[in-house]
Amino acid sequence: MFKIGCHISSSGGFLAMGRTAESIGANVYQFFTRNPRGGAAKEWLAADVAAYTAFAAERGIGSPLGHAPYTLNPAAEKENLRVFARETMADDLAKLEQIPGAMYNFHPGSHVGQGAQRGIELVAQCLSFAVAPGGTVPVLLETMAGKGSELGGRFEELRDIIAAADESLRPRLGVCLDTCHVYDGGYDVVTDLDGVLAEFDKIVGLDRLRAIHLNDSKNPYASHRDRHETIGNGSLGEAAIKSVINHPALRDLPFYLETPNELPGYAAEIALLKSLRD
Ligand code: FE
Ligand code: FE
Ligand code: ZN
Repeated sequence: MFKIGCHISSSGGFLAMGRTAESIGANVYQFFTRNPRGGAAKEWLAADVAAYTAFAAERGIGSPLGHAPYTLNPAAEKENLRVFARETMADDLAKLEQIPGAMYNFHPGSHVGQGAQRGIELVAQCLSFAVAPGGTVPVLLETMAGKGSELGGRFEELRDIIAAADESLRPRLGVCLDTCHVYDGGYDVVTDLDGVLAEFDKIVGLDRLRAIHLNDSKNPYASHRDRHETIGNGSLGEAAIKSVINHPALRDLPFYLETPNELPGYAAEIALLKSLRD
């Protein structure tokens, strides 16, 4: 089954997200667990979660991916920012346990001049605090474009964060590969997708790869910029996107669009991608 969807506003709650997903031809979706630029958490209403759960099961909607707020920086230098990051992550993960099939995605953060090694240690410490024993929700580190002191622009950094986290929680850690970010980050998924995936497998392991953010890029290869473009209209192009969604190592993963679109644009992209599926 082709698992394809997009980022959807969470402002109306879970049942509304399920209905929106269905209305645009999506069977998976991503949402912000809270205000992406603030961090204040809205309550998740039990009745809404129950109604959504029944709806999703009946309509075949799954793999909801909760995206952490952008303001969360587990590798921050300031202690109060690190406390915010780990408490937010712990709270998000506890709440996501109620949502069937949910996964959690976060940006590893920026080391803000402390050096990648220190940043990696801090992200691992955050995970060791936030990923509670007994939980089941997978926690995905997103591949980043490597802007400034951003961590996660190299597969080695993702590997090192996972390796530095408590051994007991490592089975829950995975990776979400963002096609715009890796291309901007210097992994040529346009002319050498097989080579990039072989490198990912060697360094991180393909068994860790749990989700794909499917985006074209406004900027050229290795630009380290991170500006998403609509599918087929950027530097990756439609042929590369087609290869990604059909690659044997990727095709069974859930794909989430984060392209600059409103719902009609997402519906059109989802229809296009379905037509590109082998
Ligand atoms: Fe992201
Ligand atoms: Fe992304
Ligand atoms: Zn991005």
